[in-house]
Amino acid sequence: MKFSTKAIHAGQEPDPSTGAIMTPIFQTSTYAQTGLGGHKGYEYSRSGNPTRTALEDCIAALENGAYGMAFASGLAAEQAILSLLKTGDHMVSCDDLYGGTYRLFERVLSRYQIETSYVSASTVEDYEKAIRPNTKLIWLETPTNPLLRLADIRAVAEIAHRHNLLLVVDNTFSSPYFQQPLELGADIVVHSTTKYINGHSDVVGGAVVVKDQTVYEAIKFYQNAAGGVPGPFDSWLTLRGIKTLAVRMKQHEENAFAVARFLSAHPRVEKVYYPGLASHPDHELAKRQMKGFGGMVSFTFKGSLEDVDQIVRRLKVITFAESLGGIESLICHPASMTHGSIPREIREARGVDDTLLRLSVGIEDIEDILSDLEQALEEQPDGSQITPDKQLSFK
Ligand SMILES: *Cc1c(COP(=O)(O)O)cnc(C)c1O
Repeated sequence: MKFSTKAIHAGQEPDPSTGAIMTPIFQTSTYAQTGLGGHKGYEYSRSGNPTRTALEDCIAALENGAYGMAFASGLAAEQAILSLLKTGDHMVSCDDLYGGTYRLFERVLSRYQIETSYVSASTVEDYEKAIRPNTKLIWLETPTNPLLRLADIRAVAEIAHRHNLLLVVDNTFSSPYFQQPLELGADIVVHSTTKYINGHSDVVGGAVVVKDQTVYEAIKFYQNAAGGVPGPFDSWLTLRGIKTLAVRMKQHEENAFAVARFLSAHPRVEKVYYPGLASHPDHELAKRQMKGFGGMVSFTFKGSLEDVDQIVRRLKVITFAESLGGIESLICHPASMTHGSIPREIREARGVDDTLLRLSVGIEDIEDILSDLEQALEEQPDGSQITPDKQLSFK
């Protein structure tokens, strides 16, 4: 089956007892057993639930993996993968990571003396140089957040396997529609399904997809032992969202391209980060590794923190909020929001400047998105400032 057919049908058969076309929401915590050991594959909903199984099988099919597992959030999914490590182990990761992932590595894993070395995402040799005798895995996020740099999955997979390491790829920003890391040699794919996979900004969730049965069993064990699973209703909503993944991604990309071109031509805009632009440093790799460039665009502009505040207050169609990947356009200020937990010196060294804004371009009519940006970016005559709610300062 091809992508859209899988998105609509994989893991989902009409309900055998009623013929219902849609997978029911099996809102139950437990299942009747007929006698000792007599059950239909489900005993307790932390261990397994049929609505969740349908979601897990569908995501696994979309990533061309053998096994899928759903979690209560992207970070719960990450934590389940990290349970493969033990005290004294080491990982190598790219330095432009989702802030919550960085916090998990630096403030939770570090308590177990699990150390992470960070290298620049797009410099292939640096991954190998950072490997130590106790390194167990390499963790990539590509495209990265918020600067949309790319890591070469095939090349890093080759390094990982030469050193007997597992390669994990956070595929949240592309979705399996634009990038399939397992096909490029990765061992484990992780998603915040909160973003494009569900796509409607109404569920927090995560997923892990793997190829290998032993790796699957180890993560599956942790999923049940630690219990960070999604409920049946969240699983159902995510499954419903997935059905339109292909059409949404096509429109996200078309709109993002138009926004990237608009911003590139705008006199107030300094830098535009979008892998689809020929000026992007990883454009050639993006063409090779991805089937499309995605719906995320970041940019910096000439101005101060006060100007950032004024611009986000003036937007009417685009909402100022954290998160990404939903049908509606969202804009965020990484330095104070998603990356607020990263110390300023580290953040700035990585290019996350005070005037960097990250747009998750939605699938509204493009004319409305562009005219909203146009009016918000317009230079205002003195005295027309909107009054801020509070003094602007952050770490
Ligand atoms: C949001 C996000 C996460 C974390 O997922 P949650 O669902 O918020 O727990 C991880 N990685 C990336 C790239 C994300 O955007």
